[in-house]
Amino acid sequence: MNGPILPGASLGVLGSGQLGRMFAIAARRLGYRVHVFSPDDDTPTGQVADVEIRADYADLDRVAEFARSVSVMTFEFENVPAATAETAAKFCPVRPGGHVLYTSQNRLREKTYLSQRGLPVTPFRPVTDDASLQTAIQDLGLPAVLKTADWGYDGKGQSIVRTAAEAAAAFAKLGVPTAILEGFIDFESELSVVGARGLDGTFVSFGPVGNAHSHHILDVSVCPALVSERVAQEAVEITRNVLEALDVVGVLCVEFFLTRSGGLLINETAPRPHNSGHLTLDAHVSCQFEQQVRAICGLPLGGTRQHAPAAMANLLGDVWANGEPDWSAALADPAIKLHLYGKREARAGRKMGHLNALASSVEEAEQLVRTARDRLMRK
Ligand code: AMP
Repeated sequence: MNGPILPGASLGVLGSGQLGRMFAIAARRLGYRVHVFSPDDDTPTGQVADVEIRADYADLDRVAEFARSVSVMTFEFENVPAATAETAAKFCPVRPGGHVLYTSQNRLREKTYLSQRGLPVTPFRPVTDDASLQTAIQDLGLPAVLKTADWGYDGKGQSIVRTAAEAAAAFAKLGVPTAILEGFIDFESELSVVGARGLDGTFVSFGPVGNAHSHHILDVSVCPALVSERVAQEAVEITRNVLEALDVVGVLCVEFFLTRSGGLLINETAPRPHNSGHLTLDAHVSCQFEQQVRAICGLPLGGTRQHAPAAMANLLGDVWANGEPDWSAALADPAIKLHLYGKREARAGRKMGHLNALASSVEEAEQLVRTARDRLMRK
């Protein structure tokens, strides 16, 4: 395929959660049609897509049929099986490519790949049995963080270990053939940069964004992060290098730890728009989802100029604990922008939506979203 994929064409997305939903909204705003493929129906993405296909990712005949019906395919979560991306790639471009999925869906592969290219990752060792666990502990020291190599997100499948016995018990409990032990980073703060890379190699980025987590799930993000110009430039440079090293066409987020001595270490990467980039929906000229559309279609990337300091607060199912949230109370402040994902069932820890606000400082923006979120909760 030579020229760009133009508005009017059909774009495919694997996965049907909120990231696919916001991708679909951006794509439709640009005049594209959107087809979504996932094992569920009436999904956050399906509700706003033109076509919703319900099938298993392992059903390669359905994947092939889906790929034939679109001009390009992307994904909204990285745990799509490699065979699914490979099958799709026979019939349409898959962006970012299957090699990016393959690398980033396993922490060990991801960290090995990046460190071999000179990129700063948290110190890590593979763990496959008791002997390798003991070696890893000797090399990295304790405390350390034991994580599953595959299928990890939002702190699932990971625990801090303080003694060798705790580590052995944690490995046994994970019940997986391969895990990764990481040195525990006593970080100053957590940052992320959302990068976008076009078909021609052009790179743009948002952030660094400052991230606060609660129970391992992102809670509040602010942009720009309150870090020095040197740290900000370095975070963007590392992100550029990650996208180039992986030859990403699309969007990829790099999550960092800022160490107490001012160094940056990559915690993980996500080859798609990221929760910490949701504030770009209101704060930047072209949001992360529009960049994803433009990048995979081979169009020029959009502007990343930020209108004003911004903050985002996640709305988890917990906000529904005492009944339907008090939307009017939160929206009484005209600075607040509400984004909901169309999920019918609010479960504790489930990402249901988020609030964004712009203000004259990030502190003020953060205060606005926190206050509005507090007002949502029925007493
Ligand atoms: P992850 O699922 O790897 O993004 O981890 C979720 C959260 O756990 C991170 O955002 C950190 O707050 C914490 N965490 C993960 N790995 C480490 C580490 N090596 N040292 C310290 N904290 C960590």
